[in-house]
Amino acid sequence: MARFEHGGFAAYRPRGRPARLSALMSVLTKQSIGPMSDKVSGFVGDFMERVGRRNPHEPEFLQAVREVVGSLVVVLQKHPEYHKAKILERMVEPERIIQFRVPWVDDSGEIQVNRGIRVEFSSAIGPYKGGLRFHRSVNLSILKFLGFEQVFKNSLTTLPIGGGKGGADFDPKGKSDHEVMRFCQSFMSELYRHIGHNTDVPAGDIGVGAREIGFLFGQYKRLANEFTGSMTGKALQWGGSQIRPEATGYGVVYFAAATLETIGESFQDKTCLVSGAGNVAQFAVEKLTELGATVVTMSDTSGFIHDPDGIDEKKLAWIKHLKNKRRGQLEEYVEPFPTARFVGADPTLQYNPMWSIRADCAFPCATQNEISAKDIEHLLENRIKLVCEGANMPTIPAGVDLLLEHRTLYGPGKAANAGGVAVSALEMAQNSMRITWSREEVDRRLREIMRSIHDTCAEAAETYGTPGNYVNGANIAGFRKVADAMLDQGVV
Ligand code: NDP
Repeated sequence: MARFEHGGFAAYRPRGRPARLSALMSVLTKQSIGPMSDKVSGFVGDFMERVGRRNPHEPEFLQAVREVVGSLVVVLQKHPEYHKAKILERMVEPERIIQFRVPWVDDSGEIQVNRGIRVEFSSAIGPYKGGLRFHRSVNLSILKFLGFEQVFKNSLTTLPIGGGKGGADFDPKGKSDHEVMRFCQSFMSELYRHIGHNTDVPAGDIGVGAREIGFLFGQYKRLANEFTGSMTGKALQWGGSQIRPEATGYGVVYFAAATLETIGESFQDKTCLVSGAGNVAQFAVEKLTELGATVVTMSDTSGFIHDPDGIDEKKLAWIKHLKNKRRGQLEEYVEPFPTARFVGADPTLQYNPMWSIRADCAFPCATQNEISAKDIEHLLENRIKLVCEGANMPTIPAGVDLLLEHRTLYGPGKAANAGGVAVSALEMAQNSMRITWSREEVDRRLREIMRSIHDTCAEAAETYGTPGNYVNGANIAGFRKVADAMLDQGVV
């Protein structure tokens, strides 16, 4: 077990982005919360300078912290008790970080070594809870940003869960099922001693789907010699919850629908852009189509498809099989559906041409920093009505600023994609009670939770003087619950 001062591997650059030179400095200076007074920007600058000094080489983490701090100045002014108890200073420091070696043997008999990490960020309101990501880009900065956002997201769900995140720089893509199993078993052989249904409850994320959860849970059960809800995202037959696979994608659409309602509109006859083709994207497309929208794009690391006729139920079933079973790339889509076009990813471009397609709503559901300011300009030129994030932090800060300046309806990931973790918490509740709820029951609860998250964010934004700003609303409402718990629990 090791504690960090510095980041791990090289920072990851999403495809289609140029090298992010001076990423750290730009993160420290960019605004993402709208115009600030000199006094406020002074506080934010000083705070970020201190956090930046303590966490060098962690641009994604600093980006996430900066957005939150900008929203919270007004709360700290109104509630000096938080400032005095140094709540914010404590919140940006994870309670614990575990790093470990993950050795395994590939199919050719070669020994491979990966790095596993679990960031246990905050247990103020419940056991650490958050997914595991297996991707070659995984490093400490990315897991800290995800863990930090998770604290606020989990707080917003109204359920008793703290925040954490973990993963490894292992890419399941191109590996055989046996290789993935051996990796998962080795990963869990260390992680199992740090998790448990009352301590830390991991789930899936990028690269960790039903197959990986199965292998991880199997090894946990074998080592801990107990069958408890120590992981979520389990299959239905052995402790999983109805609607968990669908929850993040469906939840994003429920949140977006509540947002559209504020301007008296619905998804009926709306054209939508969705990025990603994984878990979140697939079920966002499913729910959007069910609600009467036409989804015309999806993407993966190979590029994007544009299908002007819409990705209907049949086409989506084909994509689910391609991505979840055959584990192929979207470029194959145009063979069975030749009226669509495929555009390959171009890493030399500073924007993604997918976001230039005319539409009413956009749902980034792939990965962090996938939308540049140029992309947002293109969306705004096409008079986009709503941008709602299925992925975590997919829009770079300058893009968020543009959306807020133009008063576009904008649902930030930490509020909009909280449906996944909310149903994970419902899975924990069912496991503890040793009962299972029906699909309708879980879906009803998910809809209620997403509505409550929407209303809570809207109310907090209004109370603190920025009506319609869901970024501020999510940060403030998420913060206050955790901060109050920390005040109650003393200096720990
Ligand atoms: P998956 O691994 O199931 O899917 C990710 C998808 O995004 C894949 O289609 C992948 O392409 C694509 N992708 C990843 N990186 C890039 C990139 N740089 N450029 C283009 N496409 C890319 O992950 P999830 O759907 O679970 O997660 C997606 C996002 O949602 C992440 O930000 C995650 O943190 C967030 N999220 C997920 C939750 C969940 O319950 N799963 C909960 C809350 C948030 P390819 O297939 O080629 O690899």
